[in-house]
Amino acid sequence: MSLELTAPTPEEPSVADDGTWLECIECGAQFAPFEDVRYTCDDCDGLLEVRYATPPTWDDFDGRGVWRYNAALPFEEGVSLPEGATPLHEVPRLEAAIGVETLRIKHEGMNPTGSFKDRGMTVGVRVAKELGVGRLACASTGNTSAALAAYGARGGMETLVLLPSGKVAAGKIAQAALHDARILEVDGNFDSCLDIVQDLAARGEVYLLNSLNPFRLEGQKTIGLEILEEFHEDYGTYPDRIVLPVGNAGNTSALYKAFRELVQSGALDADEVPKLTGVQAEGAAPMVEAVENGWDDTKRWDDVETKATAIRIGNPVNAPKALPGIRETGGTAVSVSDEEITEAQRDLAAEGVGVEPASAASVAGLRKLRNEGVVGEDEQVVCLTTGHLLKDPDAAFEAGDDPEPVPNDTDAVLDHLAE
Ligand SMILES: *Cc1c(COP(=O)(O)O)cnc(C)c1O
Ligand SMILES: [Zn+2]
Repeated sequence: MSLELTAPTPEEPSVADDGTWLECIECGAQFAPFEDVRYTCDDCDGLLEVRYATPPTWDDFDGRGVWRYNAALPFEEGVSLPEGATPLHEVPRLEAAIGVETLRIKHEGMNPTGSFKDRGMTVGVRVAKELGVGRLACASTGNTSAALAAYGARGGMETLVLLPSGKVAAGKIAQAALHDARILEVDGNFDSCLDIVQDLAARGEVYLLNSLNPFRLEGQKTIGLEILEEFHEDYGTYPDRIVLPVGNAGNTSALYKAFRELVQSGALDADEVPKLTGVQAEGAAPMVEAVENGWDDTKRWDDVETKATAIRIGNPVNAPKALPGIRETGGTAVSVSDEEITEAQRDLAAEGVGVEPASAASVAGLRKLRNEGVVGEDEQVVCLTTGHLLKDPDAAFEAGDDPEPVPNDTDAVLDHLAE
């Protein structure tokens, strides 16, 4: 099976362009990477993956941010703002409260538009230029549309975004609007938006930049590469476990792919690969269901609900790539309640790390797995926080304390403080 952790480096096929090609994860069909627009396999409709004849080693990396890792990417450089090089925060109080040996927070909210989606977009928009397509489009719970709008603007291209009506956090729509995307609000959920934009893409109307697009995941691999490099610099080892929120499971797939390619090149031993641990909201947990039942794909949940709108997804398109990643690394998946998510959001904020609700799911999931004894006290863990606090100001107001009205008078303010 092509998604095994120890799968050997593939032979370069004749369709390859400069050592890069597309391969179907289901039937193995191979395609030229940049000749035609293609999102899934022509033969069996399976998911496609970008493959390389020469997987990267540590010595190949040079520079800063996503493009430091261009030896693991299809191009030398892209349409950049620039992105990546996000902080790996220490959180000593939270580490002690949860009870693990090491806890670090990889805060992807510090990317240019405030989420990790920028890492995928810098590569995806570069590929769009290579293909010579006109209009870029995505379905989005919000952050993909913000990233697409900004990178599309940067690249001088037209952008179209489809959002579920009334379910997108204020900060995200504001970004898409100001970066001048054309915004269509669909009377349906994210999964319905994705169905429609996939139809538009199939009819040649738009170039699809959802995480079904295999090139976006290439950029998102760099999260895993940054974590491993920085963690190794600080501790001389790699983390035992990486815990991340799961929506469409693009990141889970991307991190797994990054690690597989390092194992292929010999840069990393298979037993050094961190356990990929996915967290979903209880009201939108098809991946957790699939992991618990040992399935190779998820079953679509038609009704999904959670205040963590970025992971309010019932049909994770990348599940067939992500489920082997969770299994092969010895990881797991867990669901958490909205209350647990809000509590984790407050705990992160108390360490100075401001995140949106979906991001806090990783910390909530870690706490739950530690309490259940699935995660041990001797573990070194990295939690991924995927988006910035300001993305969802309403959720932040709700989780935080209310402002206190006071009179316009110093003595009255002092009286109020003494109360
Ligand atoms: C997109 C997104 C997710 C979900 O990531 P997947 O790769 O689709 O699993 C989680 N959190 C935030 C903030 C996001 O924007
Ligand atoms: Zn196929």
